[in-house]
Amino acid sequence: MPWRIRCTECGTERDLNVSFDISKQRTIYIYCNVCRKNTFNEILGYKE
Ligand SMILES: [Zn+2]
Repeated sequence: MPWRIRCTECGTERDLNVSFDISKQRTIYIYCNVCRKNTFNEILGYKE
């Protein structure tokens, strides 16, 4: 399931593939390759 997410610290948008439903949460705490650390990422929506 490809989700579009955006790092709240650096603003980088990327796709995230997870096997569970994250549509009910606003952010997800996950590793950002640009920040090189775990950051909060805004969930922009499901990408078709
Ligand atoms: Zn970042």
